[in-house]
Amino acid sequence: MIDNRLMEMEKEMVETLKGLIRIPAVHPNSGGEGEMKKANYLNELINGFGFDSIERYDAEGRPNIVARINGKTDKTIWAVTHMDVVPAGDLKLWKTNPFEPVVKDAKIYGRGTEDNGQELVASLYAAKAVIDEKIKPENNICLAFVSDEETGSRYGITHLLSQKLFKKEDYIIVPDGGNESGTLIEVAEKAVLWLKIKTKGKQCHASMPEKGTNAFRAATIFGYKLGTLYSKFNKKDPLFSPPISTFEPTKKESNVPNVNTIPGTDVFYLDSRILPEYKTEEVLQFIKNIAADVESETGAKIEIESVNREESTRTSPDAPVVKKLK
Ligand SMILES: [Zn+2]
Repeated sequence: MIDNRLMEMEKEMVETLKGLIRIPAVHPNSGGEGEMKKANYLNELINGFGFDSIERYDAEGRPNIVARINGKTDKTIWAVTHMDVVPAGDLKLWKTNPFEPVVKDAKIYGRGTEDNGQELVASLYAAKAVIDEKIKPENNICLAFVSDEETGSRYGITHLLSQKLFKKEDYIIVPDGGNESGTLIEVAEKAVLWLKIKTKGKQCHASMPEKGTNAFRAATIFGYKLGTLYSKFNKKDPLFSPPISTFEPTKKESNVPNVNTIPGTDVFYLDSRILPEYKTEEVLQFIKNIAADVESETGAKIEIESVNREESTRTSPDAPVVKKLK
């Protein structure tokens, strides 16, 4: 029985997950070295599992692995999980080393344990249980372990899509996020719009502000005015959690190293998650209009660059894959 098999594999699953957590796979743009070491570890591990095939679809040094069990039909059930993790953030805020997993009270603590380690391991051992039980499944079972999910998916799922691996009739499941009881089926995602906002003024000594244009002040005014995005794009959709669009200033690049210089440039980022009721283009246009106002108010120049932009998509709650999952 599959469930007995799974119960027997508990220890092995915990060890595999711990092994994965120990290898940081942070995006190069976020100061990491990428997913290669983790992918090679995983690839080596599953070589002995008995999959019908294991293929690599690496893209510019960013690894992707597809492991397959052949079924009786042409149709494929996919489980897509990602190997990359977000950076650990401020290490002082961690009680333990984020990349040295700790097992405590039947829980594992470490960076990427929940997102997306547990789902990766769950789908992997579900497949292993099918192999070990010598079950010939009705449909092919394919596991895709991808890179680059946290920062736009260009070298991950987007690359796999370009390889034409997926068919219209396939069931594609992405176990990433959900609730504790596992009853939540997510069918839609908000659009993503990440902007890099560069404000240019004129550097000068802080004691003589009249000789320059304070880029940081202009950026602060702009950042404050971006708060109006919430009232402009205020529709609600209960399909989403939270049910509103969100617009949050996030990363801030350092400007000048000393207190007594007025910065000539300032860079910050905006993370927007937009309901499908709106197009990212209207949001971007609104932001540009605010920027023009701030430019004329402060004399600074504001450059807006999109660093990640994806429109919203949704699967019908009545789609076969959703019904099967239910
Ligand atoms: Zn994730």
